[in-house]
Amino acid sequence: MDVVRFYSNIIKRNMDKPEKINKLINFGLTTAYYYVSIFKDKRGPNSLHYLTKYCIKSIKDSLENPQNSAWVNIFSPCEFLIALDIKPLFIEAYSSFMSGFFIEDYLIDTAESRGIANTLCSYHKTFIGANELKILKKPEFMLTTSSICDANVPTFRYLSKKQNVPLYIIDVPYKYSKEAVAYVKNQLIEMVENLEEVFKRKLDLDKLREVVKIENKTRTLINKYLNYLKEKTLLVPMTFEMYMLFASHIFIGSKEMLKFYEMLLDDIKNAPPRSGKSIFFVHLLPIFEKNFQDYFNFSNKFHIAGSDLNFDYLDEIDEKDPFRGIAEKLILNTFNGEMERKVTRIRELIEKIKPDGIIQFCHLGCKQSIGGTFIIKDLATKMGIPFLYLDGDCVDKRNNQVGQNRTRLEAFLEML
Ligand code: SF4
Repeated sequence: MDVVRFYSNIIKRNMDKPEKINKLINFGLTTAYYYVSIFKDKRGPNSLHYLTKYCIKSIKDSLENPQNSAWVNIFSPCEFLIALDIKPLFIEAYSSFMSGFFIEDYLIDTAESRGIANTLCSYHKTFIGANELKILKKPEFMLTTSSICDANVPTFRYLSKKQNVPLYIIDVPYKYSKEAVAYVKNQLIEMVENLEEVFKRKLDLDKLREVVKIENKTRTLINKYLNYLKEKTLLVPMTFEMYMLFASHIFIGSKEMLKFYEMLLDDIKNAPPRSGKSIFFVHLLPIFEKNFQDYFNFSNKFHIAGSDLNFDYLDEIDEKDPFRGIAEKLILNTFNGEMERKVTRIRELIEKIKPDGIIQFCHLGCKQSIGGTFIIKDLATKMGIPFLYLDGDCVDKRNNQVGQNRTRLEAFLEML
């Protein structure tokens, strides 16, 4: 921890030298990569080791290759980028890494000092702060959707204007219909045309079909993994569930993420039977919150039984018409549309996983999450499962009431 703080202080002292910061961040990511490669944490499964390395490398690769990179958010359809060999940098992950480096406060303060509202989600403020300080090198393209996250469209518009980089926003309707699918499909076709023009390469439809085929295989494994969660336990840190978002979203369709889920399935098959109490998380896990770290990281007393964000789409995609298939996926994502869709998925997951409790950590500034809290609480009450919600921040550590959280979290866990 002291080494990281030391490193963070060096970065903070040089914030007016973007080139130097860029190198320092690259150095931090490289060091982290070699550290996790050499000093494998023996408490965790092989899949955790593999995924951790992959996540660090993917962030590093996209930062090192801005000329072949696109900035995206977690709900962007990255299958097209994978098929075109373009490296996505997803802003939520970048901000989490900056929080891991203990520099998120500086970046957030910078964004706010330049006029960004303090009520904006800190995943976005951190990224904007890095952009303001010119730490981030200009990518070739930006891609986002109108769905789920109300912060996305304004943030990406702002970034695109500031960097003078083309942006494509996919407008995703709330409701599923034939017309809605055709509407999104047409946008995807147009978006790919833009990508082809910017990156000066043609999309190979067979390659896209291959990506979708791998994605379908991966999702079969995700569904199998899900079936094990009610009886088996893996000892993992909270970061594992969050790293899994790389696998279930941005990089799904890549061979590496198929391999990850194969490893994960092996790990869970060979894991010991479930013991202790298991907690299902709604939306995000506060990976930097001290109490949560103490209670959940590698704990066999209280373990993590998944989070709904990793299971927000569980069906097959049409391999014959991938544009149509991906359009359907975007519309039918359980976080898109009415709250009832998300609640139905949470109910299905709870019935399958049978956790002992549910926690929703309401990330400051995330309206879609906070807005549904009491509906999910009602569901938990009807299902007879204890539910806890806590307010805080998954990125900006200053917004967490650590003492208050400890009291409420302890009381909840003792009750289970
Ligand atoms: S936490 Fe909420 S507001 Fe922030 S990026 Fe995610 S969906 Fe958007």
